[in-house]
Amino acid sequence: MAAAWQDVVRDAAAVREAAAVAVDAALLAGVLMRTGEQPHASDVVNYAPFTLLPSAVPQGLFEEAYAVQQDFNLLVDAVSQNKEFLEQTLASTIKVDDFTARLFRIYKQVLEEGLAQTVFLGINRSDYMFDCGLDGTAALRQIEINTIAASFGGLTSRTADVHRLVLKVLGKTEEASRLLPNNPAKGLALGIAKAWELYGSQKAVVMFLVEEVQRNIFDQRCVENELWNRNIRVVRKRFRDVFEQGSLDASRRLHVDGQEVAVVYYREGYVPQVYDQQNWEARLLLERSRAVKCPDIATQLAGTKKVQQELSRPGTLEKLLPGRPEAVARIRATFAGLYSLDEGEEGDRMAATAIADPDRFVLKPQREGGGNNLYGEELKEVLEKIKDSPERTSYILMDKIRPQPALNYLLRAHSPLQVSECISELGIFGVYVRQGQELVLNKAAGHLLRTKAIEHADGGVAAGVAVLDTPYLV
Ligand code: ADP
Ligand code: MG
Repeated sequence: MAAAWQDVVRDAAAVREAAAVAVDAALLAGVLMRTGEQPHASDVVNYAPFTLLPSAVPQGLFEEAYAVQQDFNLLVDAVSQNKEFLEQTLASTIKVDDFTARLFRIYKQVLEEGLAQTVFLGINRSDYMFDCGLDGTAALRQIEINTIAASFGGLTSRTADVHRLVLKVLGKTEEASRLLPNNPAKGLALGIAKAWELYGSQKAVVMFLVEEVQRNIFDQRCVENELWNRNIRVVRKRFRDVFEQGSLDASRRLHVDGQEVAVVYYREGYVPQVYDQQNWEARLLLERSRAVKCPDIATQLAGTKKVQQELSRPGTLEKLLPGRPEAVARIRATFAGLYSLDEGEEGDRMAATAIADPDRFVLKPQREGGGNNLYGEELKEVLEKIKDSPERTSYILMDKIRPQPALNYLLRAHSPLQVSECISELGIFGVYVRQGQELVLNKAAGHLLRTKAIEHADGGVAAGVAVLDTPYLV
C-alpha cells in the first residue's frame, strides 16, 4: 500500500506540533484509559494509545470486509446451534486443553438441562490483515473472529474526529474530509437494546460482566451510555459479585443483587486465569439462566481457533450454511491457509512442514487476548518438542500473513515520539439478534483499525502492543 503521508512523515517540526494537538484532541474526545498505576479509579486517566496519522487501507478490501460481515454473523450463529459440529470439531481439543474442556462441559450441561434462554445476541468482531502478494496486490485475510468481549468499539467511535483534526493541522483538509464516520458503540448498543426489549421486562437491567481490573472502562462506558440514552438501566458486575449476589428463580430468571437481569454482556471470561472455582460456578449460573448471554457459551466455543480451522475444510461451510452459496463464497475468499495438528497423517505432515519452514506459519493455541501465538524459532522449538504428543492437538497452524508496512508514529503516554514501520489489522463489528429460530437483526456495526510496529509479532491494544487507528481509504 502506498504510504499516504510521505511528505509529512519526516517533517519533525510538523509532526511534533500535530502530535501535541492530537493528544489533547484524544483527551477531549474521550479516547481514554485508566493508568497502570491507578487501574481501579478514574481520578487519573490517560489517553488510549493511537497513531498520529490514519493508515492507508485499500478501499476494495475495506468494502469486502463490510460485505462479508452479515455472512459471518450467520455462520457464527449457525455453528453455535450445531451440537454435532461443535462436538466433533472440539473432540480432540478438549482431550488436551483444560480450559476449552471446562467451557464445553458447561455447554453440555446447559443443553442437557434444556435452554431457558430464548433470545440470542451475538456481538463479534472479525479481524483481518491485508496480505501482500508477490506482485504487490493486497488480499483481505481473516486473522480470527472474536465472539466474546470484542473490545474498542467504544473508543474507536471517537478516533476519527481526532485524526480529522490532525490532518487539518498538517494542511490536509481535503483528506480530512474523507475520513469515514464510525460508531460501533451505537451499533453494539442497538443490538443489546433489541435483546433487552425482546426479553420483555421493563424493570430488568443489562449487566456488563466486567474484569477485576478495569483499565479499559471508558470503552465500555461508551456502550453503556448509549443504553442509558435509551432509558435502559445498566449495572457492572464481576464474576465474584454474581457468585455472591446471584440466584435463579423457579423459571430460571436471573437476579443479581436484587435486580432481574435481561442481558449479560461479557467483557470478561475468555482467559483461564480469571476462573477460580467460584467464578466457574458463577459462569454456570449465568449460562443456566433465562437471561440473554452475549455470547452464550456455545457462541464462545464457536469462536475457538479450532473451529476456525475446521471451517476452512472443503465442504464445511456448505454444510453449515445450506442454500447460501454466495455467502459461502464471500466467507471462503477471506480465509488464509489453516491446518489441523490433530493426531494422524495430516497432522504429522503439517507438523513436519512447519518445523522445516517455520517462518511460513503461525502456531496458535486455543487462547484469546493476544500474546499467545508462536512464530519462527519458537514455533519450531515447541513443535519439535510436542510433535509426537497429543498436546500437539491443542494448537492449530495458520499461514503467516505478510502486510506491506507503512511509516507512522505511535502515540503512547510517557513514550518518545519516534517514527515506526507499522502494520494494521482491520476489525469489523457484527451484531445479530435471534428470537427462537427467527433472526430479527443482522448488521455490520462499524470498524476498528489497530496498528502496531512490525517488530511485534502479536498482541492487541489492551496488551500494550497495538494502538488505535483510523482507516484512510485509498
Ligand atoms: P488472539 O485471540 O490472541 O487475539 P489472534 O489470532 O488474533 O489471537 O492473533 C493475535 C495477533 O497475532 C493478531 O492480532 C496478529 O497481529 C497476529 N497474527 C495472528 N495470526 C496471524 C497470521 N496468520 N499472520 C500474521 N500475524 C498473525
Ligand atoms: Mg485477535
